Amino acid sequence: MARTIRKPFALLTALALCLAAWPALAMAQLPLVVVVATGGTIAEKTGAGGGAVPALTGDSLVAAVPGLDKVARIKVVNLCNIDSSQMTPEIWAKLSRAAEAELAKPEVAGVVVTHGTDTMAEGAFFLDLTLKSNKTVVFTGAMRDASDPSPDGPINILNAVRVVTSPQAQGWGVVVALNDYVNAARWAVKTQSTNPQTFDSGQKGYLGYVMTGLVERWHPRPARLHLPLPDKLPKVTYLTTFAGDDGALVRHAVDKGAKGLVVDGVGAGNVNAEVYKAIQYALGKGVKVVITTRVAHGGAWPIYGDQGGGLTMQKAGCILSRAFDGPKARLLLMLALANNTSPQKLAEYFK
Ligand code: ASP
Repeated sequence: MARTIRKPFALLTALALCLAAWPALAMAQLPLVVVVATGGTIAEKTGAGGGAVPALTGDSLVAAVPGLDKVARIKVVNLCNIDSSQMTPEIWAKLSRAAEAELAKPEVAGVVVTHGTDTMAEGAFFLDLTLKSNKTVVFTGAMRDASDPSPDGPINILNAVRVVTSPQAQGWGVVVALNDYVNAARWAVKTQSTNPQTFDSGQKGYLGYVMTGLVERWHPRPARLHLPLPDKLPKVTYLTTFAGDDGALVRHAVDKGAKGLVVDGVGAGNVNAEVYKAIQYALGKGVKVVITTRVAHGGAWPIYGDQGGGLTMQKAGCILSRAFDGPKARLLLMLALANNTSPQKLAEYFK
């Protein structure tokens, strides 16, 4: 009799234990995503003196995302907590090393970087250039801070993790994803100073779209450049030019030790005669000069042959950048100089 009762009881107990352990077992099957927190509006709240200031750790950000635990297991790395207006290439180098270390672990599916939007496109491009791993890395952030009635951080983190864990994103490498749209790091640009729909990729187009857990793949990643991360980054200055510019800023940059110079010309990459004289001064000192343009799309071209025209500057030894805007051209030139890139290869990088 006792044996008869014992059997169903044992089965019920076993069933109850399985049911109790089920959530943990299900969780253990989920992919592991590393969230590296660096600060930005996504982690800011209104401070005592008014205005958004750094406030939340990566752990708090992750804890505030409903449903995230149904998508992935999360490991948080708190790298720093700064507004991205304070970011530097040296901090991005530290971020690149930290991300590389996590991506090298077989159990890690990919990395989400929470970052301020002001310099996110540059930071993402820096990792796109320096990371060896081909796993997906998604930079995300927010345009409305955690004190806002409807902060956009939580959904952006959830979507970023969805992208990292989606087969549709395989091969995308480093991307910038906010407000449901996915941009290649190479093409992403911040285009709106306050609106959540701020990142786009201009005439190149979005890589894809993420909505309610689905990731749509519209394009493969663009061609990728890889430059090993150096121990030290050379000084490369970026400046713009303007009507009546006397070239003093160019000369100052050279005299302050710039090894590289990125100069935003007007139109298809032209400067005035005074700036051109200053650029010749820079070239004479062995400074590598890259010409970009203030114009949003199209880049710099060897079209104009007058004093300061793009063709004149190319003939004088300047590199014309079609592929990248000033801030990204500066990071590329910095890494290329650190890797002793040949003049021929350098010119190719910017096409
Ligand atoms: N100023 C902020 C930052 O770049 C803007 C943002 O994150 O949206 O850190």
